[in-house]
Amino acid sequence: MIQDIFDRGELEAEVGQTAFPALRLAHRLSPEAIRDLIEQAGLVGKGGAGFPTCRKLALMQRQPDAVKYVVINGGEHEPGSGKDHHLLEHYPITVLEGALILAHAASAGVLHIALLQTAERAIENLKNAVRLLKEDSLSKCAPEVRISVVSESYIVGEESALLEVLSGRDPLPRQRPPHPVQAGLDGRPTLVQNVETVSHLPYIVLYGAASYRALSPAGAGVTLCTFGPEFVKEGVCLVPLGISLRDVLTIYGGGLKSGKKIKAVQPGGYSAGFLTNAELDVCFDHAPLREAGSALGCGVIRAFDEDQDMVSVAADVMDFFRQSCCGQCPGCRMQTQVLSRIMDQTLAGRGSEKLTRQVPVVIKANEDKGICGFIHMPAAPALSILKKFDEDFVRHFEVSTDKVVRE
Ligand code: SF4
Repeated sequence: MIQDIFDRGELEAEVGQTAFPALRLAHRLSPEAIRDLIEQAGLVGKGGAGFPTCRKLALMQRQPDAVKYVVINGGEHEPGSGKDHHLLEHYPITVLEGALILAHAASAGVLHIALLQTAERAIENLKNAVRLLKEDSLSKCAPEVRISVVSESYIVGEESALLEVLSGRDPLPRQRPPHPVQAGLDGRPTLVQNVETVSHLPYIVLYGAASYRALSPAGAGVTLCTFGPEFVKEGVCLVPLGISLRDVLTIYGGGLKSGKKIKAVQPGGYSAGFLTNAELDVCFDHAPLREAGSALGCGVIRAFDEDQDMVSVAADVMDFFRQSCCGQCPGCRMQTQVLSRIMDQTLAGRGSEKLTRQVPVVIKANEDKGICGFIHMPAAPALSILKKFDEDFVRHFEVSTDKVVRE
């Protein structure tokens, strides 16, 4: 097993039991030195997009404004994901310490932490961590910490929609540019990061970038994953990056409870492309998974065994996108409704090859017609499932043909 990089006991014992040891050390470093450390560690955003954390921070550091904000997104809106909640429940001081390190590196005067209104224990834990900070001498140079609660609606996880909610408006993504890092809350530069991303910072600051990378045998660092209920070791687990996806599934996920052969894997949440069993030797990291037509996303790993009808999976995924669309853009509304209808009709035995040929056409026609990145999300799962599991679709078309003949 990998060392638990979030554990306070290990972090504090190393530096003589002081609270917030990494923050204390970070305050002796310049914002640029912290950014360099993050770059050397190769840390990327753990909320889904996998954008390099140092580049987003560099953009923030270039903003000349005197007033800046950091917002930590702890809503964990991806279905099936449990990692941020796990951190907030078990390691709230590490989460707060990481957020404060980022705020220091971003020269932010206010730190917002957004949590789900239903996450009562996480909210309480974080409030206790803030109380601990207030009792510490570090509080004199710490930013103001504000804890906000948000709804479970998926689109609130989109960073500009989250900022709208924190500003008291409806959860609707905003047109960009300007990007939040240029003009976010109150029109001020606002750096939005995920709970897990900042939770890696205390370890990186205390032990250095090389130690962080060396947590993985491939020298690529680590990430939290949430294994679905079909896995022997379901739930949240720290996984090394750079090993094969097959090893991730067997060593860290424990394989399937059913004991059956894996037919398909979706390794990064609903918007990730599906992989076949033959593709499982792909390297488990952002770039190789992207090249394979999939994504690591926020590490929600779902696997489907050889008995699974993939048309039913496609219908479920497209229904999720239909329900989660915020409705602002006609192209996104139309795309999500049509894709969901095609999959539902196929599942109900009313599909055809001609109908599913509309899937790539609809996706292409709406490619750049959305205000936010949600417009692109159905493409990879829809196209990969059609291409790689076409025999399942053909089986449903045969049912349709039988019906026509009988009628
Ligand atoms: S692309 Fe979709 S989710 Fe994003 S703003 Fe437009 S309608 Fe809403």
